[in-house]
Amino acid sequence: MASKHFDLIVVGSGVLGTFHALSAAKKGMRVLLAEKDSYPINATVRNFGQVVPSGMPSQWFDLGVRSTTIYNEIQQEFDISVRNNGSVYIASDDQEQQLIHELKYVMDGRKYDAQLLTRSQCLKKWPSLNETYCKEGLFFPAEISVEPEQMIYKILKYATSKFSEFTYKTSCPVIDCSVENTVAKIVTSTRETFTAEKVIVCNGGEFKLLFPDLFKASGIVVSKLQMLRTLPLPEVKLEGNILTGLTIRRYESFEECPSFATLSLPEHLIELKKWGIHILFKKATDGSIIIGDSHEYADVPKLDDLGFATNHYINELMLQEAQRIVDFDVRQIASSWSGFYPQHKTKGIVEFDIEDKIHIRTAIGGKGMTSGAGYAEASIAKLFALS
Ligand SMILES: Cc1cc2nc3c(=O)[nH]c(=O)nc-3n(C[C@H](O)[C@H](O)[C@H](O)COP(=O)(O)OP(=O)(O)OC[C@H]3O[C@@H](n4cnc5c(N)ncnc54)[C@H](O)[C@@H]3O)c2cc1C
Repeated sequence: MASKHFDLIVVGSGVLGTFHALSAAKKGMRVLLAEKDSYPINATVRNFGQVVPSGMPSQWFDLGVRSTTIYNEIQQEFDISVRNNGSVYIASDDQEQQLIHELKYVMDGRKYDAQLLTRSQCLKKWPSLNETYCKEGLFFPAEISVEPEQMIYKILKYATSKFSEFTYKTSCPVIDCSVENTVAKIVTSTRETFTAEKVIVCNGGEFKLLFPDLFKASGIVVSKLQMLRTLPLPEVKLEGNILTGLTIRRYESFEECPSFATLSLPEHLIELKKWGIHILFKKATDGSIIIGDSHEYADVPKLDDLGFATNHYINELMLQEAQRIVDFDVRQIASSWSGFYPQHKTKGIVEFDIEDKIHIRTAIGGKGMTSGAGYAEASIAKLFALS
């Protein structure tokens, strides 16, 4: 590596870190992006790849729309696995129908294309849905999906090939980060040091290497999610982001709808809700169907207690509910895994600034693939006072 001084060092190459680094490189900065693993293997590659601004609370909605534009713009130049198949929320009872009507009203106000579809329109568009489950749908045609197992690697390839001043260093755990003589400095596990005008730490759910005491007292909670993937099922017709009744009862955009406060929970959903289960489907490009997810929580000091195993009982609950929604055999499972993401009890993201040189940006929760790119772009503009 020719020089050890950069305009910006970013720690962590998940979606948040990578888009911070890319946004800075686009502005002509010399950037070092440091990743502790040989390639990113955490939340950014373990998710659905659903880019769904429609599910976000209002302040994150705009960042989700901006992220969609960023993804689409890059896709014009370089294949990063974007597919333009939209998102649909399938309502299964009167209360969920009421909520999708209310969200449609909100989205009309924002001039964001939202289309109510009758049951027969839904069944025509997504023939693998169960007629008995689907009452009505709310469709967002502008929404996209990406392939989580490909997207970040493709973005990194795009960034390193397009920007000669973009340096990506893998197998590079950063074990110290400090300010010395008005310059930000990092130390890696191999005792290399690098300096920059600023360091942005996008550490995802890694809270032991840098600033452990700060994170312990931060109010961050880590969520463990369980996911399933079927064998390739090319005959299944379920394109786009498919979100269902429990999602309508969970996503924050619906919380802002008037009737959310009076929502009651039907008996058959009580056990599912207890495990934070809502059912989403996403057909991958190989024809397999990703099904999830569940949520269990632990504070940062207790995060190891979440364990590494996938709980069979939770998978069973998810499969039973999934089978109510679709007409193909959901038990043709090829793999299952756990994913973890940090979130904050009250904030949409956690931001710590140290001497205006070190900027920690993590705990974006379950919206990083949707709003992360737009957030990172705005964050770079703000931190470097760019217009
Ligand atoms: C199962 C699951 C499903 C999800 N589905 C969706 C979805 O459909 N849509 C959506 O919008 N969001 C979804 N999310 C949320 C989304 O995946 C996360 O919000 C996002 O990936 C977080 O990105 P990140 O960059 O903050 O963290 P991460 O992806 O965890 O990346 C952090 C990176 O930093 C590196 N790192 C940490 N510390 C250091 C260090 N000291 N030195 C060097 N490197 C370091 C790590 O190795 C890691 O690669 C889902 C999450 C999960 C788990």
